Amino acid sequence: MTIKIKTTPIWTGGVEGKCDRLHETGIIGSLRWWYEAIVRGLGGYACDPAEESCKFDTKSYEKSLSGDNSLDNALSAGLKEVCPACWLFGCTGWKRQFQLQIENAPITPLHFRTSIDMNKSWLRLIFGGESQNIDNLHVFFGDLRFRFLIRASNTDSADYVRSQLLMLFLFISKYEGLGAKLQHGFGQVQILETGSGTGYGVNDGLKALYRQINSGKFKFLRAEGSLDTPYNLHNFISLDYDLPVSSLKIFMQNSSHIGSNSKSLEDRYIPCAFDIRYKGKDKFGMRRWLREEKNWSESDNPKQLGQIDRLLGPRSQWKAGKNTVKIDENKRAASRLCIGMPYKIDDRSYRLRIFGFVPPALQIPEGELTPDLLSAYCQEYMQHAFNENIKQNNIIYGKDIIEQIEANNL
Ligand SMILES: [Zn+2]
Repeated sequence: MTIKIKTTPIWTGGVEGKCDRLHETGIIGSLRWWYEAIVRGLGGYACDPAEESCKFDTKSYEKSLSGDNSLDNALSAGLKEVCPACWLFGCTGWKRQFQLQIENAPITPLHFRTSIDMNKSWLRLIFGGESQNIDNLHVFFGDLRFRFLIRASNTDSADYVRSQLLMLFLFISKYEGLGAKLQHGFGQVQILETGSGTGYGVNDGLKALYRQINSGKFKFLRAEGSLDTPYNLHNFISLDYDLPVSSLKIFMQNSSHIGSNSKSLEDRYIPCAFDIRYKGKDKFGMRRWLREEKNWSESDNPKQLGQIDRLLGPRSQWKAGKNTVKIDENKRAASRLCIGMPYKIDDRSYRLRIFGFVPPALQIPEGELTPDLLSAYCQEYMQHAFNENIKQNNIIYGKDIIEQIEANNL
């Protein structure tokens, strides 16, 4: 199966966090991460491999095989303690059901655009590390071609693997992003070719997954026994906007550019997500807006998180008098909300996506933060920041997607 995509810069990490060649593992990791959230949302159990991963039960498998059972039955016996995510992506004793080859992966120099000078040092520090030099870093940008080699035990399984991979790519291109550092705007993806004919939708793959979860074939746990994680489709929102070119011109000035000079005229995408999410000139900066206009709290205590910190991630360090305070290692967390880089859709407009997960049990001035409330905040902030004729396209709630799949299977 081949999938061809067009993308804004993709960050896949790798050696020393530098994105100097395309790492299949980075892409697979990102696919798995989204898949886990989807599995949990559909009522299934997905382990967190960073905590405790599933294991294929080799003993039961061998015992079943020696008892004259078919290979499929023996496999089922071994898979009793394997979650749907590990079934697809592999775990101890069980192979990933596909191999990924990236056949075409053009790169481009990393660069950013920001309206305030202070952000330049931040971005250089975040991406350049100690040298604070980002001029020689690269990201993947352009048309990428992924080739999947499916290695399932029978045709049904192979069809299922294909349906899940396709669903993931469709889901990512419609609602979220691919790769790492999505909170910095990387990884907005458009599918050019799926190689699987047309007419196949996200819901087809979701329905197939829902049926598998409820088949009793996998390790299965309802939400109450599940991991305490916000990364569950149930808490997910995604909003798309079209912005007029004029609303982004502050980022297109020469003085806004940092990184390789060869990218100073790049206008197919505008890497200004930091300003939009964090802080920028004029009304840009959701973090500042939440603090100054919405009275959300931001913690000054390295051992505690405020409301803003729980949604957008804590600051890594800040000044208190003459001292620099650093956040406690175990309080570090990435932003739950991501704002993609605006990318050009025609001569007049750019598209921008906001997506992410509502942190559980977060009390804000109106009560507990829900997907609807978070979406309302995002909409209000976008009006505030861009106050021109921005056009809101889709608002997608994970809970609606789930409801649709469940209703369909009643
Ligand atoms: Zn698992």
